[in-house]
Amino acid sequence: MDTTPIKPIALLGSTGSIGTQTLDVCDKLQIPVATLSARRNVALAEEQARRFNVRLVAMRDEAAARDLKSRLADTDTRVVSGESGVLEAAQYDCGTVVNAIVGEAGLAATLAVVELGRTLALANKESLVCAGERVMNLARERGATILPVDSEHSAIFQCLQGANGNKIKRIILTASGGAFRGFTREQMQNVTPEDALRHPNWSMGAKVTIDSATMMNKGLELIEAMHLFGVRAEHVKILVHRQSVVHSAVEFADGAVIAQLGTPDMRLPIQYALTYPARLPCPAPELDLAKLGSLTFEEPDLEAFPCLRLAIETAPRGDRFCAVLNRANETAVERFLRREIAFSDICGEVKNELSKLNQEVN
Ligand code: NAD
Ligand code: MG
Repeated sequence: MDTTPIKPIALLGSTGSIGTQTLDVCDKLQIPVATLSARRNVALAEEQARRFNVRLVAMRDEAAARDLKSRLADTDTRVVSGESGVLEAAQYDCGTVVNAIVGEAGLAATLAVVELGRTLALANKESLVCAGERVMNLARERGATILPVDSEHSAIFQCLQGANGNKIKRIILTASGGAFRGFTREQMQNVTPEDALRHPNWSMGAKVTIDSATMMNKGLELIEAMHLFGVRAEHVKILVHRQSVVHSAVEFADGAVIAQLGTPDMRLPIQYALTYPARLPCPAPELDLAKLGSLTFEEPDLEAFPCLRLAIETAPRGDRFCAVLNRANETAVERFLRREIAFSDICGEVKNELSKLNQEVN
């Protein structure tokens, strides 16, 4: 077992689902945390700052930053604010930077970390969806390392550890199917945000949970995989796997398929990104295959989940189209959560924005 002490990390999006689970891993492995950033959850940010005795906390929201500053007045933790504050937390001199910000808002931090040639543990898949070519080119130029946190991409990365330079023939990207797995388009007509937020296998932030329900999430992950592993869209096969135990797999030239299995618990991929290449005991429960009995796989239903079809069609079109897909989806998901549009309108909203860009280009 590798016992080298791990350098302090910077954690962006510390108050979210990935952020809090990252701190759980840091707690268990005694990984120090140098900086934190969050949008506006002052109470949780204060508790985290005290617990990990961090050097710096950035609050995206100015009023939240003022509040946190007075709450932490008795400590020597520095509080900064706004976008520039978040970037300061990202660029702080430390080891790995974990980007667990949700949405396109995470792109600036990704670029800032990569620009410095540092190691980025990336949960913020939207960075790669809206600017994958730019991020990966910059990473190559600067010698930055991007370690995936998204469970499927962590699985693929793990499957490649023994590849010895052999090329990927095909990636099998698994999907839980989300809250409405097995539903027809008609059955999804009147579903509410509460219904869509009830994910069968994972407890996650609202945006990614809705993306799982529309299956847009798997489309975003397809684009993420293309950039991380240098494969084309047609070499990624998406399969619905309701147990979320096979986190993804890689097929090689000889037809051998290497998969990574584990209980559905994000702490495992988070930890692997923090301790890579070492493997250390993890708080996630052990996998009991006999108890599970069987694992099932099926083709995704592209009629019932048109967002997935749209993302598959957009994936080969490059950053400009993927950025519009991503932004339009973020807006539509927010509007659905505010009950301004129906669940079944999300795809139409994204399609409209993509048609506008199509007209501009033609
Ligand atoms: P979340 O909504 O639970 O947390 C988001 C975090 O980002 C919070 O700390 C919030 O304060 C911060 N934030 C939000 N807007 C911000 C802004 N404009 N500027 C700075 N910070 C901001 O989200 P999450 O579920 O933890 O997901 C985070 C990222 O990880 C997403 O890109 C998601 O797709 C990805 N991801 C999440 C999971 C999961 O299990 N939750 C799994 C795989 C990938
Ligand atoms: Mg995922």
